[in-house]
Amino acid sequence: MASFIVLLGAPGAGKGTQAEILAKRTGLPHISSGDIFRENLKKQTELGKLAQKYMSKGELVPDDVTIAMIKERLSRPDCAKGAILDGFPRTPAQAKALDEMLAELGGKVVAVPFIKVPEEELVDRLSGRLVCKANGHIFHKKYNPPKVPGICDYDGSELYQREDDKPEVVRNRIRVYLEQTAPLIDFYRARGLLVEIDGNQPIEKVTEDLWNALPDEVKAQ
Ligand code: ADP
Ligand code: ADP
Repeated sequence: MASFIVLLGAPGAGKGTQAEILAKRTGLPHISSGDIFRENLKKQTELGKLAQKYMSKGELVPDDVTIAMIKERLSRPDCAKGAILDGFPRTPAQAKALDEMLAELGGKVVAVPFIKVPEEELVDRLSGRLVCKANGHIFHKKYNPPKVPGICDYDGSELYQREDDKPEVVRNRIRVYLEQTAPLIDFYRARGLLVEIDGNQPIEKVTEDLWNALPDEVKAQ
């Protein structure tokens, strides 16, 4: 049975940073819905152009489009043992759809770490976030600076600030998170899958707590 980890947390909580590290350690692929939308935008696909209309305002891309995109991604061979999901599901309808697609694919959600960070810290994190153009590697001007300013440590590509990390959009993204995504905390808690992680600690310490919260079947891969 394939094992899927769902990372929950507000924008800026550290999901992408931690998903990348956990993916390396477990060998499971890191699947970020935001990264897939941004890749599509870069290639100017129809999906990318449609998603951009919502992303630029900090709104969610409609469920039907997002669900179809993730379904296609999860059916690829690299997800045969499972995956680390970062940014999906983000609504109750997406969470239900995830269960259905995993039932079809022969997988299940085995743990849902919820990375908790105070709201004022989120704004600080997002306003200093830097992302690499080639592969979406994540840095922060103060908290996780690249070795050479403006250049990705891993692939040498240029770092940029996301349009939606500007303060006006950030506030809306946090509002949207509280309204549409936060209900998933109770949804997964009721199923006994939620593990609360203190995200207001150094990156390495958050990783350690996350690692301890993962079921053995995922660590052993
Ligand atoms: P999310 O995917 O949840 O939006 P990211 O992983 O992109 O969050 O992190 C948001 C920003 O905060 C990035 O600039 C990242 O480098 C930084 N960051 C991540 N984790 C921490 C942490 N534990 N302490 C300080 N800054 C962090
Ligand atoms: P963050 O890392 O700050 O949480 P993401 O990169 O995950 O941001 O998402 C950026 C934007 O992409 C979101 O504001 C939203 O417009 C869109 N998006 C990403 N994932 C989803 C999803 N599961 N459902 C709907 N929209 C999404």
